[in-house]
Amino acid sequence: MFQRLLPDQIVNTVFDIDLNALRARGVRGIITDLDNTLVSVKTPVATPELKAWLEKVKHEDFQVVILSNNSETRVSRFAVPLGIPFIPAARKPLGGAFRRALGLLKLEAPEVVVVGDQLLTDMLGGRRMGLHTILVTPIAPGEEGLGTQINRRIEKIALSRLRKQGLWPQKEER
Ligand SMILES: [Mg+2]
Repeated sequence: MFQRLLPDQIVNTVFDIDLNALRARGVRGIITDLDNTLVSVKTPVATPELKAWLEKVKHEDFQVVILSNNSETRVSRFAVPLGIPFIPAARKPLGGAFRRALGLLKLEAPEVVVVGDQLLTDMLGGRRMGLHTILVTPIAPGEEGLGTQINRRIEKIALSRLRKQGLWPQKEER
């Protein structure tokens, strides 16, 4: 029952995503989570390292949209200075906001990947939309709010089951 939470790919951080490999597969767009994927929950704006990465991503002709379950205030404060389109209060894993994100990107599902740190929101939501999913290690899980902490408990159960069944994908070589 947890198989729908499985990511297609696992990396440590967004910086470890192989953009050339994505391009080779015809990927043109990235739908990314914000909290604990791009920066920690308590980091209001992008770090210099992240800014440089986003510049590189844009320079390499990938489109990016931020899809976050967090509030408009949080997400806009982060995304507006970067000039990146964003959808706050996304209610992942529900499909509505993913569809809106695909609309913003003007791309079809096979051309888009979803990047995030949570199985129950990012990975499940992406998979339900038929999008390739990339899981990152949460940047600072200790700072998460109650809702996410509850999700993490379910994640732990899912992880141990999936590992036992030999279904959990191997970490990418870095
Ligand atoms: Mg997150």
